[in-house]
Amino acid sequence: MKNQIAQITALAGDYIGPEIMAAGQKVLATVAKNQNFDYQITDMPFGGDAIDKTGDPLPQETIDASKNADAILLAAIGGPKWDKAPRRPEQGLLQIRQELNLFANIRPTKITPAMMKFSPLKQEKPVDFVIVRELTSGIYFGTPREKHDEYALDTMRYTRTEIERIARLAFEMASKRRNHVTLVDKANVLDTSKFWREITAEVAQEFPNVTYDQSYVDAASMKIIASPEQFDVILTENLFGDILSDEAAQTTGSLGTIPSMSKGIDGPALYEPIHGSAPDIAGKGIANPFSMVKSVAMMLANSFDRQDLADQIMTGIDVAVERGIVTPDLGGTATTDEVTATIIDAINERR
Ligand code: ATP
Ligand code: MG
Repeated sequence: MKNQIAQITALAGDYIGPEIMAAGQKVLATVAKNQNFDYQITDMPFGGDAIDKTGDPLPQETIDASKNADAILLAAIGGPKWDKAPRRPEQGLLQIRQELNLFANIRPTKITPAMMKFSPLKQEKPVDFVIVRELTSGIYFGTPREKHDEYALDTMRYTRTEIERIARLAFEMASKRRNHVTLVDKANVLDTSKFWREITAEVAQEFPNVTYDQSYVDAASMKIIASPEQFDVILTENLFGDILSDEAAQTTGSLGTIPSMSKGIDGPALYEPIHGSAPDIAGKGIANPFSMVKSVAMMLANSFDRQDLADQIMTGIDVAVERGIVTPDLGGTATTDEVTATIIDAINERR
């Protein structure tokens, strides 16, 4: 952390973005007050909101405030209102990822006993793994990239540096969890995958306490459904990670429950729900705040080393679920505010 008091830049964005951001900030204020966590939040315009105010989805002051922060909270941006805008909200998202060099995307899939009833999985065992996905290279960015009348081509390219830095991140995460990394690839076919295996094996030697294995992506996609309890940290490249993280998200029962962290080379990490701005339910007060509240917990644990506060928040969420105070996406009838108030009550009761 570079600032004396934790500096958080908050980008509420569009549609349900401000609704869930408010919930996240209320829960943050609750644990901070109880446990002496000093912080300052700066709210900045981003996405469609910023287009309306300045014409630009990512104004320079938002870039500056983000770079100077210790962590960034983002809710959700975009939606039909800006479909015809000359600059679209999503361009702001791509740009901020570049500005902050966010090369790793980390998505937890955690299904606690309380949450198990929402999962389409048949198994009873709790699920708790994270996917560490490379975000700035691979086939989405490689050149040449060509489309002709008779053929087209994309290029999957990875450098040693790109693989080393994300492999190290995966092993560091595993060493704070259950000490296991699974590299997911297609090394029976792809040379890039063979390269990932070589370099990941080298990085693994720096972490003697972390066990390491590999799985082909086709097999891994079955295991995420059939036996997810065997995973701790899944390390994978961009394309495979894109697919597997959406598959994993579905096993929890609602998009509205899942946070994520994107990490840069240095500088602040960015925390956000994995879902979009949900224009269909905006303004109704029924957005599920879990994804945003969990993003706050992830931020406290990872950027500010306050796992204790993160644990309190996660327990608060489980209590809301146990009391049946959940939003319609989870089959409940509660509003965003009622769910948030229940989480806050649970945190305060357990002090
Ligand atoms: P994007 O392109 O930005 O990813 P999307 O088209 O994939 O957006 P989302 O905004 O992620 O769509 O929403 C997909 C569905 O999930 C919508 O029906 C939306 O209402 C629902 N949804 C997403 N987030 C939440 C939430 N926090 N609470 C309740 N429902 C949600
Ligand atoms: Mg989407």
